[in-house]
Amino acid sequence: MPRNITVELKCRYCGESLSDDSHQVDGNPGIKLKVRSGDTNATVWLSAIFGSNNLESEVQFKKGEIVEFSCPNCSAPQTSSKICDVCGAPVALFKLSDGGKVRVCTRSGCKNIWLDL
Ligand SMILES: [Zn+2]
Ligand SMILES: [Zn+2]
Repeated sequence: MPRNITVELKCRYCGESLSDDSHQVDGNPGIKLKVRSGDTNATVWLSAIFGSNNLESEVQFKKGEIVEFSCPNCSAPQTSSKICDVCGAPVALFKLSDGGKVRVCTRSGCKNIWLDL
């Protein structure tokens, strides 16, 4: 078992931490995001453990559906101009509290995630 690496993400627009101490996932503060797909708006909490696919969502998105993540604080969409090299969906970009970047595929079920340090 590799050591669990936890990440703390920030909105790249307002700089607010996305960690939600009041909502734990995998025993760590969850990464809170607003998520939208079509007419559906919900809140999701991603696991702060890098590589963990655990998340909690108010609604269940269909596998293969492309969602849009936005900041719960300033509502800025986190989608970047980058495209997932696995499935071709847009990729959301987040800042790490220690300066790196994390890119997450916005297609539900793709689970593609990159760490740019
Ligand atoms: Zn923000
Ligand atoms: Zn993908």
